[in-house]
Amino acid sequence: MSRELDAPRVHLVGAGPGDPELLTLKAIRVIRQATVLLVDDLVGRGVLRYARRSARIVEVGKRGGCASVPQAFIERLMAAEAIRGERVVRLKGGDPFVFGRGGEEVAHLRKLGLEVEVVNGITAGLAAATSIDVPLTHRDHAHGVLFVTGHARSDGRGAAIDWPSVAAAAASGITIVVYMGIATVEALQAGLASRLGGSTPVAIVQNASLPGQRHAICRLDELAAVVANEGFGAPAIIVVGDVVHVAAVPADSGERPDAGSAQAA
Ligand code: SAH
Repeated sequence: MSRELDAPRVHLVGAGPGDPELLTLKAIRVIRQATVLLVDDLVGRGVLRYARRSARIVEVGKRGGCASVPQAFIERLMAAEAIRGERVVRLKGGDPFVFGRGGEEVAHLRKLGLEVEVVNGITAGLAAATSIDVPLTHRDHAHGVLFVTGHARSDGRGAAIDWPSVAAAAASGITIVVYMGIATVEALQAGLASRLGGSTPVAIVQNASLPGQRHAICRLDELAAVVANEGFGAPAIIVVGDVVHVAAVPADSGERPDAGSAQAA
């Protein structure tokens, strides 16, 4: 008997940044087999075209109701559906293991004796940089990448963001990719600029890979003003580092983006 028929099983599937063409083949296969899908807010709606018509789609983000569904409820629901014999797919934006609480969900399901398989997705930080032709590493500019959240845990557990350490990494030639950084953009700017200098190039990309994608390139000391004045909001990724200078020539202008002036795309 195949393993699939043995034990209740849940798939945690990365839906990528939004564009359905950025799904993996494995994600599409698993989505097609699902009878129940629990879908997060940031999952691009185009991804759901691969679900069976008969599949039950449960929205567990803010779009589906008034407030986000509590994490404990989602975990209980996943387990209950799998134990009932449903083929459960938990669809998450980007990659399940990058700021996606995938680790918590795997631990919970395994504790209940369920089998869990995680399917990678393209994380938003990678997609955002690529969407504006910024290479996150470059032999001349950056020898590493740091993915960091701008949002400390609201329950007070865990440390606040240690911007001086992040700035030290950036100063050593590591590109910084900030998730969930809009609400705390002023702290981010102040914390990084004091060590890196205000002229450090920065890019902000909202809705990467989606039809509403927009971006700006500016100096670090302009970032909070650009976010406010140009109305940038979540979901957005902020990229900090010299690689932003490498952004390719925009197809229509023939000019390289200049880190001295903000440019909305
Ligand atoms: N697991 C997801 C991250 C979830 S945290 C991943 O791997 O991508 C949510 C944050 O991801 C958002 O606040 C934003 O910073 C980022 N994000 C998700 N989708 C995005 C998109 N299409 N464009 C820009 N940022 C995005």
